[in-house]
Amino acid sequence: MKIHEYQGKQILREFGVPVPRGIPAFTVDEAVHAAEQLGGPVWVVKAQIHAGGRGKGGGVKLARSIDEVRQISGQMLGMQLITHQTGPEGQTVRRLLIEDGADIRKEYYAGLVIDRAAQKVALMASSEGGMDVEEVAAKTPEKIHKVWVEPGQGLQDADALALCEKIGLPEGSRKQGAQALQNLYRAFWDKDASLAEINPLVVQGDGSVIALDAKFNFDDNALFRHDELTAMRDLDEEDPAEIEASKYGLSYIQLDGNIACLVNGAGLAMATMDTIKLFGGEPANFLDVGGGATAEKVTAAFKIMLNNPQVKAILVNIFGGIMRCDVIAEGLIAASRAVALKVPLVVRMKGTNEDLGKRMLADSGLPILSAETLAEAAQKVVSAAA
Ligand code: ADP
Ligand code: MG
Repeated sequence: MKIHEYQGKQILREFGVPVPRGIPAFTVDEAVHAAEQLGGPVWVVKAQIHAGGRGKGGGVKLARSIDEVRQISGQMLGMQLITHQTGPEGQTVRRLLIEDGADIRKEYYAGLVIDRAAQKVALMASSEGGMDVEEVAAKTPEKIHKVWVEPGQGLQDADALALCEKIGLPEGSRKQGAQALQNLYRAFWDKDASLAEINPLVVQGDGSVIALDAKFNFDDNALFRHDELTAMRDLDEEDPAEIEASKYGLSYIQLDGNIACLVNGAGLAMATMDTIKLFGGEPANFLDVGGGATAEKVTAAFKIMLNNPQVKAILVNIFGGIMRCDVIAEGLIAASRAVALKVPLVVRMKGTNEDLGKRMLADSGLPILSAETLAEAAQKVVSAAA
């Protein structure tokens, strides 16, 4: 799950990472009121969307008067903000953050991710803050410094200080910088984050260190123990099809191709997508129906997949282990009838009660193409979609 910058800054504040004073606003009046409360003399009006690169896209603007705050807020609210992370259609701006303008001397980068290979949290920092960290990593990887944190110890004073020195934080700012990194690590750990990024982390004219941006991703599997994070979810920022799917416990991710796939198990779903591509097709979605797919679940999955106008054919690939093939066949038949299926459907089923399931599909009178192997299924669905 992702959250907005202003929510991320709330977390940073809670963990003792310095951030500018700021107030979220949903209307122009709220923005003006927020600016009055802050008092100026310089404000920054920031579009709140779940994507980075807002600065370059016109979603971060400096205001030097209340009138300017009003004018900029009016322009920003409701605009389609396009950044390199939103895709070409952009994202509608519905919320703003009005905050104190900082006196920036230099911008740095700090980020935490889980390094699966090392089985540790990796802290990355760089002197090249403010810009795309991907670009820095690609062009000047030597400018990104890393520390792997021992889970039992947390981020140690010496490691945090050494990192601040490596990225060239001025000597007088290092202690505060190190503390900010340690507090960021505590926030990452306590909130079960999968990513926490401050870009830019800034040294101000007076030498103080402050976080001007905040990005967090959280592990969905840990949200059950973080009601305070779930409350920050903004459904406007999520794909409607993916929200609908999550109601039924389906893992669904929409893609650009035209072959819908319904599979049980994430690994098998990935293999199915790979095989479709191998035979020249393009998957329209990733969909894992999970272990206990009932007829209702399969029907919901069909409806969600078919809502995508790109879809030209469906491939169902099921391994009947705990789930029996006859139950899946029942679900497929019910779903095909419920949605009055108009695109070709290819089914490959293996496992428990396979013969019974296949017979049910054959007897249903529905135009279902059956396949024995994954390769055969993929070839059939690719030619059906063409
Ligand atoms: P994004 O990463 O989406 O572009 P940021 O929050 O990083 O958005 O803002 C982009 C740039 O705008 C920052 O690198 C910084 O130069 C400037 N900026 C952001 N917030 C402030 C602020 N409160 N005061 C002064 N400058 C700011
Ligand atoms: Mg940023």
